[in-house]
Amino acid sequence: MSRTLLKNASILDVDAGTLLEERDVLISDGKIAEIGEKTLTATGVQVIDVKGKVLMPGLCDAHVHVIVPINSFLQLTKWSPFYTALRAMPVLEGMLMRGFTTVRDAGGADFGLARAVEEKLIPSPRILYSGKAISQTGGHGDMRGAGESAFDSHYYVPSLGRIADGVDAVRLAARDEIRRGASQVKLMVGGGIASYTDPIHFVQFSGEEIRAAVEEAENAGKYVMAHAYTARCIQHAVRNGVRSIEHGNFLDDETAILMKERDAILVPTLVAYTTMWEEGLQIGMPPELHAKIKYVLDIGSTQLEVAQRHGVKMVYGTDLIGPIHRHQSMEFKIRGEVLPAIEVIRSATSYAAELFQMEDQIGKVKAGLRADLLVVDGNPLDDLNTLQDPSKLSLIMKDGDIYRNTL
Ligand code: ZN
Ligand code: ZN
Repeated sequence: MSRTLLKNASILDVDAGTLLEERDVLISDGKIAEIGEKTLTATGVQVIDVKGKVLMPGLCDAHVHVIVPINSFLQLTKWSPFYTALRAMPVLEGMLMRGFTTVRDAGGADFGLARAVEEKLIPSPRILYSGKAISQTGGHGDMRGAGESAFDSHYYVPSLGRIADGVDAVRLAARDEIRRGASQVKLMVGGGIASYTDPIHFVQFSGEEIRAAVEEAENAGKYVMAHAYTARCIQHAVRNGVRSIEHGNFLDDETAILMKERDAILVPTLVAYTTMWEEGLQIGMPPELHAKIKYVLDIGSTQLEVAQRHGVKMVYGTDLIGPIHRHQSMEFKIRGEVLPAIEVIRSATSYAAELFQMEDQIGKVKAGLRADLLVVDGNPLDDLNTLQDPSKLSLIMKDGDIYRNTL
């Protein structure tokens, strides 16, 4: 049983939005065992003095795709699952080293990858996987071009999604992903950028199909997250029981009011558009897909202001793929330009824990929770940029294990 004592910490209290000064934190058996006011002593522990630094919960990213390359989304289906997993390793390690200790995969990652992380075979954030995102024929998870009819539906062909049409098929697909241990069911309920045959304004799945997936998820104590850009798609999803709205760039007042009424949570992924617009072509994104970014880019970050005004809870998401992952922390800057710093911090900690149904495990520096902790050189409440610069993270801990320590 490894034990660590962090002395003289300034703890970032994400509920209060303040710092609790001069606290000692004892970590034992992967959990935060005790928090005391400069009083804790223990024998047989590694003592680390963190005086002058801020101790905060590990970060969460609620929208990642750890196995997806950028140059061709179709190419993924021609890869070996072993090759795909090995390619994901540096992506995952990069996330952990940026301070992300929990990530929710929005399509592609599976029980094998999550198990490797759980068994500590690779340095990585904890992965809450959706398995394959469920899509209708011609929907956002159908990566075929108009001239292609073949779709290799074998489960072990690496891909972001699977196709299901009709209530029974969607129900079966949801049950199958839950059987494979998915933390949540992912549905594609509207058009998107990374698919060839569906413009962003398309509405996908019938209400009955969405409700079947929601019923299966809720019966298993889980929930549905849905890809949706336009107000119409968001309303379609929320009215049929979806809890987590992904992207949601065209959120308007009426839709935000509906989301608030139904306690739906918004996961914007703004950093994806600026970075993919700037770098996508150079790193091999097909031009016809790259062109689709413009439509989303033009609306900017107005959704943040609309959601905030109507009290819709927002959680941190990025949706980056391939080499662009290095911009994962830039979402802090984009949101910080519109929202108070503490709200942005909550989006990546306590609000994310709530969305993941893990409030009793992660998201705060609190006794009894898992020891997912960051020691930050600087105060993120005053300057969110501290979370953008990985060199400011002096210590990165997940489940009590230290992955970086420069103290
Ligand atoms: Zn999406
Ligand atoms: Zn996505």
